[in-house]
Amino acid sequence: MLSVIRAVEAGAVTMKGVKEATGLSRLKIERALNALEKQKLLVREGQGFRATVLPEAGPPNRQCGSCNACCDILEVAAAEKPVNQLCRHWHAGTGCTIYDRRPQMCRSFVCAWLQGHLDDDWFPAKSGIIVHFSQDAVNVTVDDHCLNRWREEPYFSRLSEWSLKGIRRIGNRGYATLVVSGADRFLLLGQTIVPEPTLFGTAFVPLTAETFRFWRAKSPEHLQRLHERIAEIERIRLEFGSCTIPDEPDDDPYPPYRPALLRSNLS
Ligand code: SF4
Ligand code: SF4
Repeated sequence: MLSVIRAVEAGAVTMKGVKEATGLSRLKIERALNALEKQKLLVREGQGFRATVLPEAGPPNRQCGSCNACCDILEVAAAEKPVNQLCRHWHAGTGCTIYDRRPQMCRSFVCAWLQGHLDDDWFPAKSGIIVHFSQDAVNVTVDDHCLNRWREEPYFSRLSEWSLKGIRRIGNRGYATLVVSGADRFLLLGQTIVPEPTLFGTAFVPLTAETFRFWRAKSPEHLQRLHERIAEIERIRLEFGSCTIPDEPDDDPYPPYRPALLRSNLS
């Protein structure tokens, strides 16, 4: 279901579009769409549909206009273009000089502003920030001339809000709001910024409505162990109303958090 909703959020609005984006069978997609519809996360409109959780689409006829940010900021491996370096195929006054044979990624790329999910503060040529949706993530890439812009307003609040919506809707696993800022990578968990998340994943529990304690996994087994311990923390929270969580962000969440220890902790 996760891959289907990300495909819808990324702009797929028909069965054919979702099929192309996910590679899933029609039956599986139909089941996922039905489940999303029941959860009021998706609305059918004629032959198509749209996700209800992201902001309503804005003007449908937006154009890139003066913007060439994705030919400058994003990495396009097929064009041997590194991140934050203007593509060698881009010429001022001409634009893309290999337009008819440009790589597939260039053909299919549509940023969230162009899709109408963001207002004009986010116009990439002005903001220096490109947002695009992929199956399991909101991807944010920042121009190296303004590496900290994403931490400023109105950007940070909107990114935090999206991150929270994703976490609340999809749960603790598999969802990400990822920021690439120069050589640095960040994962956003509401208002909590996780620097340099690992490829194995980040486990987290809420501390407040908008902040989280996190642990970066060092292996798939570590991630599994973290999720088991977090499940235990959540059970204890449910039973006792609170649970002690260790301070060290990179260590496993060790005791004291088992019920017996917690009881003695509370007494
Ligand atoms: S970043 Fe968005 S608006 Fe700018 S050129 Fe790319 S798709 Fe168009
Ligand atoms: S190949 Fe063309 S469309 Fe793709 S990044 Fe380079 S200039 Fe832009």
